[in-house]
Amino acid sequence: MNAPNKSGWKPEMNASEDGMHNGPATVTGNRALMLEEPLIFEIGHAETTGVDLPEISEGRSRLGSFARNETIGLPGLTEPETVRHYTRLSRQNYAIDLGLFPLGSCTMKHNPRLNEKVARMPGFADVHPLQPQGTVRGALEVINELAEWLLKLTGMHGVAMSPKAGAHGELCGILCIRAALEARGDAREVVLVPESAHGTNPATAAFANYRVENIPANEDGRVDLEALKARLGPDVAAVMITNPNTCGLFERDMKAISDAVHEAGGFVYCDGANFNAIVGKVRPGDLGVDAMHINLHKTFSTPHGGGGPGSGPVVLSEALSPFGPLPFTARTADGVVHLAEEENAAEFGHTQAFGRMTAFHGQMGMFTRALSYILSHGADGLKQVAEDAVLNANYILRSLEDLLDAPFAASGPCMHEALFGDQGFAEGLSTLDLAKALIDEGYHPMTMYFPLVVHGAMLVEPTETESKASLDQFIAALRGVAERALAGDESMKQAPYYAPRRRLDETQAARKPVLAWHEPAPPAGTPTLSEQGGS
Ligand SMILES: *Cc1c(COP(=O)(O)O)cnc(C)c1O
Repeated sequence: MNAPNKSGWKPEMNASEDGMHNGPATVTGNRALMLEEPLIFEIGHAETTGVDLPEISEGRSRLGSFARNETIGLPGLTEPETVRHYTRLSRQNYAIDLGLFPLGSCTMKHNPRLNEKVARMPGFADVHPLQPQGTVRGALEVINELAEWLLKLTGMHGVAMSPKAGAHGELCGILCIRAALEARGDAREVVLVPESAHGTNPATAAFANYRVENIPANEDGRVDLEALKARLGPDVAAVMITNPNTCGLFERDMKAISDAVHEAGGFVYCDGANFNAIVGKVRPGDLGVDAMHINLHKTFSTPHGGGGPGSGPVVLSEALSPFGPLPFTARTADGVVHLAEEENAAEFGHTQAFGRMTAFHGQMGMFTRALSYILSHGADGLKQVAEDAVLNANYILRSLEDLLDAPFAASGPCMHEALFGDQGFAEGLSTLDLAKALIDEGYHPMTMYFPLVVHGAMLVEPTETESKASLDQFIAALRGVAERALAGDESMKQAPYYAPRRRLDETQAARKPVLAWHEPAPPAGTPTLSEQGGS
């Protein structure tokens, strides 16, 4: 650390004290390129600033009682100090650009650099949502062309481009369903959700004021069709189904499920987060789906997680399309138009929009990236994406099933993710311990304890962008930690050993997050930050 450290902060652990690195302790707590970094409040000073501003001339403030009467208390750092702080922190993150990211259900695939190049073109990167339409015709063409591709790939009728993530898209789809039901004066109250559903599904239904009821899974990890049929009735507004499901399996009965739901007067919502496994192979429209969100940031490679915002367009059936939210785009004889107002939309027969999901059109930067991805792959390339994603997941499943419990491996190949359970782990060792040991091996852990239908679940999604060499390396690492868990290697309980921080209390962090920094009590006699002008 080169910044003075006013809080007396000390690195949590010096690895050499553990005897792991066989070297002397360092003064800084750094270990060569493994750099320790305090919080920005601990290195910055409220009384300094990185920029020179002219003195404020005495003027009449119009803020009245809103005027600030204390200092703002933000740490002042110079530009190089700021850049270094965030660069140092960024080096402690795992990223898809560093290695295989097996987080199941998240489709952490490589983000092709071509997409980035296209998204950075000034004509796309610099557009403003309030610019006159005549000056953004190219951007509107991009939105519309992407919309057309999504419709072609899904076999659906309409698409709402504006939702900004998968969960936001789910809400959009459920609100379309609610609007369609209300339009026919039908006050249904229940949304059915299978046991294996992603947590966002019941959350969305509850948020939209529906009562959520579970549908059990059958022996082989799929929706129990008979149980579903038995529950259908005049109070069921919709069924929300993920296909392929979160056990990594294709719902073979999807068409029969849709037919039964439609016959009972309900709608079918498909969670399309797993579209990567079937893109170019199966059209959800052919399976009777009424609404499905597509995570552009999963299937179509736009960055996500720490790397960028999501984008969750929702494709809609003919029955739901009239209720889709504003704004949307439409092709006219003079090019693509952006329809943001009710009266304009009505000219295009779109008279029943339920409202809007966002202020503007959605995530432009993700649209350009997704379209660039689609066009660079082409129809054949997209089909190969699905095939290779499924092949890679099956390679992982078959390479580990002799060691790890693979509850559905006997029912045939998986789709794009391989699911394992903790059966056979030595007493006292858990999936969490295995995941922490995997961090020491240099991998982000897989999705854990989800889906809930498998004890100690580990959901591994390699995606198609990993080479065989990269898969083999990951498999070797996973086999290594699995063997330790089976053999009862107690040292795993203390893992990770080599991460910048050791085992954290994640429950505490999630339930009681500490979101504000408070200056620690200074040693007696030192002026406090607030006495120096900070707060
Ligand atoms: C990722 C995911 C979602 C939610 O999408 P976000 O973009 O994270 O809001 C919903 N369902 C499934 C199955 C997912 O994997």
